[in-house]
Amino acid sequence: MNLNGKICIITGAARGIGATIARRFVRSGARVAIADLKLEDAEATAAELTKMGPGEAMGVAMDVTNEDQVNAGVQKVVDTWGGVDVLVSNAGIQIVHELQNFPFEDWKKLLSIHLDGAFLTTKACLPHMYKAGSGSIIMMGSVHSKEASPLKSAYVTAKHGLLGLSRVIAKEGAKHGVRSNVICPGFVKTPLVEKQIPEQAEELGISEEEVVNKIMLGGTVDQEFTTVEDVAEIAHVFAAFPTNALTGQSMVVSHGWFME
Ligand code: NAD
Repeated sequence: MNLNGKICIITGAARGIGATIARRFVRSGARVAIADLKLEDAEATAAELTKMGPGEAMGVAMDVTNEDQVNAGVQKVVDTWGGVDVLVSNAGIQIVHELQNFPFEDWKKLLSIHLDGAFLTTKACLPHMYKAGSGSIIMMGSVHSKEASPLKSAYVTAKHGLLGLSRVIAKEGAKHGVRSNVICPGFVKTPLVEKQIPEQAEELGISEEEVVNKIMLGGTVDQEFTTVEDVAEIAHVFAAFPTNALTGQSMVVSHGWFME
């Protein structure tokens, strides 16, 4: 399976998991739009990937919570490369507080990036996929799409919500050849997780080492972090799968933290 010539949009791809998915897709021959908040960050990642090849990349400025920016970014990709074959809705943030102290503004911000972002980018891409009669939508869920943890009410709510959205897209998209699936990673050491370690230590009154060993990796079978490459490999399978059999699914990649 490869992505030779496939046109892909990955949100939040200037760094972290999204950047590694972009790298995997370009290595597989894809044309990848790196959509992120700051154009210069997106363009820097894109330039690096184009140098690597054999595919190519371009940077697109996009705040996934802003409908005009989402529509303009998707249109830029269509105008440049002629369509959209794959969307990876990956942009996301984490904010941790106990529920009784969770600022409403933070709740709305987190839900907006994860849920509005997935909705708006999907809505903008679907007409192009429907016109082509094919497409693959991939949502970045989490083990927290299926499991709960203290302090993460907004994140757990958003990640559970993405499962529902993806299943509706799978049902509506089927007659147009469009598939939709969710990746559910365990803890991956990216800036999003690095930031949480001291925050959770403070909220829970424990050491940073305990946060890593007990809270983040305590449920795994081997005390190991999932890697960005592990997640990118699953994204590649969902993107490149050759038939419409693989749709409406969610795949957990978490060193056995969550089993189903
Ligand atoms: P990260 O913080 O390293 O990268 C997130 C990227 O999203 C950044 O480039 C940021 O600029 C971008 N972004 C943030 N808000 C945006 C917005 N409004 N519009 C466009 N781009 C925006 O995070 P990461 O760890 O790579 O996480 C990526 C995704 O993977 C998120 O959805 C996250 O919830 C999910 N995830 C991460 C982990 C983990 O352990 N790191 C585990 C499971 C799921």
